[in-house]
Amino acid sequence: MSKYKRILLKLSGEALASSENTIDPVTLNKVVNIIKSVLNQNVEIAIVVGGGNIFRGAALAQVGMNRITGDHMGMLATVMNALAIADACQKNEVDTLVMSGFPIGGGVCDSINHVRAKQALNKGKVVIFCAGTGSPCFTTDTGAALRAIEIDADAVFKATKVDGVYTSDPVKNPDAKRYDSLSFDEAIERNLKIMDVSAFALCREHDLEICVFSMLKNTNTLSDILKGKPLGTIVRK
Ligand code: UDP
Repeated sequence: MSKYKRILLKLSGEALASSENTIDPVTLNKVVNIIKSVLNQNVEIAIVVGGGNIFRGAALAQVGMNRITGDHMGMLATVMNALAIADACQKNEVDTLVMSGFPIGGGVCDSINHVRAKQALNKGKVVIFCAGTGSPCFTTDTGAALRAIEIDADAVFKATKVDGVYTSDPVKNPDAKRYDSLSFDEAIERNLKIMDVSAFALCREHDLEICVFSMLKNTNTLSDILKGKPLGTIVRK
């Protein structure tokens, strides 16, 4: 049995994209299989999805858009990604509940409600949170920390392209070493850029561990970590 009862998976928008598609159907299927592998271990799973495959506020501001409007567009992008993940799950008979950080209505998705999110998780549904924190000037990493705290998750699993946290960029520096674990203070002091500082600060304050791992290279990785294999890097107090 896994030591985790409930996890929050943070997926970047880019993780859903391919060179051909903004939201790639093959990748979506992989994500669904990973979700199933978690549920099969009797671990409850909620997801916070980013929007970087579609829009990022900072990038829009660089080409002259008002930053707050850009952030609103970025948050709406995360809603599209959440709907795509939910659709792929439903097709594979995985029940979902999509909750947005700001009210959308019109039958598109629900608004964030921590009590109802926990009730859905208890019933084995996958809760997909979108629109980050619901406010501009934040990222979905901070949204992930916030939602994980709200639903009493045991840990945040942050899916990245590399298999953990390294002393420096392993793509640029072949001598970079992977940490098995490190503290929030070390991650912030060394400016390791795994998550933004506000996300770290929330996790540190609420004693919520973060596991940084590579999700799509090997679709068994998340399931293996839940079984206790020492993969990825743990950031904790
Ligand atoms: N965003 C925001 N507030 C939030 C979360 C996200 O304004 O709480 C906006 C912001 O513009 C961000 C975009 O939504 O760039 C997409 O989120 P993010 O960059 O975190 O996505 P990811 O990099 O994970 O795909």
